[in-house]
Amino acid sequence: MGSTILTRITEMRKDRISAMTAELNVVRYANESYGGLGTNARFVVRIRRVLFIPLLLLSSCARGPDSAPPDLTSCTGLEIRWPRGVAEFFLPDGAIRQGILDPDEKEYIQSLEPYRVTDAQRIRALADVVAQGTYVGRIHGSPSYSTPVHITCYRGNTRLTSFTIYGDVIAVADGGEFQYPPERLDERIVEEPVELRPFEYRYQCARNLEVLKGAAGLFSKRAKEFPAPNKWSDAVLKALKAEKWFICPAVQTGNGKGHSQRTTEVTNVDGARQEARLLESTYAMNPDCGPGSPPDTVLLFETKTGWNQHGGPELFTFDNHDPKGGLVLLKDGTVKFIRTEEELKQLRWK
Ligand SMILES: [Zn+2]
Repeated sequence: MGSTILTRITEMRKDRISAMTAELNVVRYANESYGGLGTNARFVVRIRRVLFIPLLLLSSCARGPDSAPPDLTSCTGLEIRWPRGVAEFFLPDGAIRQGILDPDEKEYIQSLEPYRVTDAQRIRALADVVAQGTYVGRIHGSPSYSTPVHITCYRGNTRLTSFTIYGDVIAVADGGEFQYPPERLDERIVEEPVELRPFEYRYQCARNLEVLKGAAGLFSKRAKEFPAPNKWSDAVLKALKAEKWFICPAVQTGNGKGHSQRTTEVTNVDGARQEARLLESTYAMNPDCGPGSPPDTVLLFETKTGWNQHGGPELFTFDNHDPKGGLVLLKDGTVKFIRTEEELKQLRWK
């Protein structure tokens, strides 16, 4: 009974419903016989406006020896599993995944699981954070609100403990649940496998293109005309008020080549010459794509660094990403990772 209330309260918290105003009705009917007298007793327990804090206090009174968070101090190896799939966890948008991964890449990503970590520093970092959890009670079943990450800890070949991370909550085998401040137990604490990084760059690059296209409805279905190609970056920047979406993350982080900021010399009011930073974008617009174009026409695509760049496939670059390739965004919002000249030619440019 108590655990049912706790479970429901926990769900309420997870759903970010204000527990102070939520109304919880628990009705319990029980038919029992007493001492062979055949008397039926009916119990109705009705709890209204249960406050979250008193119940939390109750649950912490019931603390047992297992109410300490998992202790990873003697752990020398971790085995990490993502029960809903590695790709689904790190690259959550299915439509983008479909556009940027080929079947071999999908298989490769799946093969990364279970992911083994033996780096002492990484294990130590996880141990330090996990140790800071606050016991909030026992739960039954698995919370469904957040994508789980399952972690098993080993010392040599001996299995020490295991637990599951759900966003900012850890659940241990007996159902005990530990809460963490939202910023401390973000899924990134486990860090993505380094092998995933090239695919994450592609994914983020696709997100950039989606954001640029979505800016203030400039390229929407209802737009009478698209921004002038020679001023499209200016128009989008004015709507977004942020430059970060204009640079492919694989270029930003170097991709082995380094990213040098473009500058120009300007003359101050007092006549002194000074270096000024130029606006930059690694994306270009196809001037032949307008509101009346077929939905599969290329609208935005990857290019070398510049600003207000516009043109056709001759501007496209395969060099921003490693393995080589570049992203295009079609008028209907579809994103595709283009790996070869052949694929580039097959796209609709006019
Ligand atoms: Zn890119």
